[in-house]
Amino acid sequence: MSTLYVVATPIGNLSDLTSRAIEKLSSVPVVAAEDTRVTRKLMSHLGISPQLESLHEHTSPERLYALVSKLESADMAVVSDAGTPGISDPGSALVKAAIDAGHNVIPLPGPSATVAALSITGWSFNRFLFLGFLPRKKHEQVNTLKGIYTEPGPIVAYESPHRIKATLGNINEIFPDRKLVICRELTKLYEETFRGTASESINHFKEFRGEFVIVIEGAGDTAPAEMSDGEISEALANLKSEGLTGRTLVDQTVELTGAPKKRVYRLSLGKE
Ligand code: SAM
Repeated sequence: MSTLYVVATPIGNLSDLTSRAIEKLSSVPVVAAEDTRVTRKLMSHLGISPQLESLHEHTSPERLYALVSKLESADMAVVSDAGTPGISDPGSALVKAAIDAGHNVIPLPGPSATVAALSITGWSFNRFLFLGFLPRKKHEQVNTLKGIYTEPGPIVAYESPHRIKATLGNINEIFPDRKLVICRELTKLYEETFRGTASESINHFKEFRGEFVIVIEGAGDTAPAEMSDGEISEALANLKSEGLTGRTLVDQTVELTGAPKKRVYRLSLGKE
């Protein structure tokens, strides 16, 4: 049984490669890579030359089988062009094939544009929604955005420089008042963070160059917590002690508690 190491690589700044990643990439004989030309540059920077095997998004079952066969004889690492493999990048099919063949799979965590962007929102949240790349067709994209309107936590999307302006236009249609955090060129020379609404962002970015992550503020826990019968009865009792009776008592309690009128009326019967 061998081990497949899933190794995160920099999303721009080469200094973000962890020392553990360097150690592992230097010791495995084979590295499966999204684009071997991109990974060869990284390996040259590290002064190492493992055997590189390509692993595309549409890698055939035969190719996966061949990679897993190599794993039989020695440990292997898998990397993508940038960031964490398997996150809008190839990697998961090889991970599954390795698991199915009974091998160990170990992550070497590190850079990911999603986590980097979320970490600088300054928003407090205990869940988030990762959308990856949004659908390209406008109506599909708009439907996706409509479908997540009530998502309480922040929503993260990746976008290419060619499509980001149109995407921000669609976000503006569905979420005109929501705050966005847009991270451009994270960890790179022209790194920039925009904070504001979608329409403001379209005016802000004169030209859309580089790589972008969009984070849309979540809806929060906007649904009011439903009141218990005891809480509504208490509100009724308080208003009654102020001299309210009959319809006025019910109406004022409905306004105060947000509870349905029928329910307040039923509870008020015992209070008259
Ligand atoms: N696996 C990667 C990760 O863990 O972040 C994501 C790969 S996905 C193919 C590439 C997309 O990630 C880009 O189109 C962009 O949306 C985002 N991205 C990657 N690097 C970035 C960077 N340095 N700054 C901003 N966004 C970046």
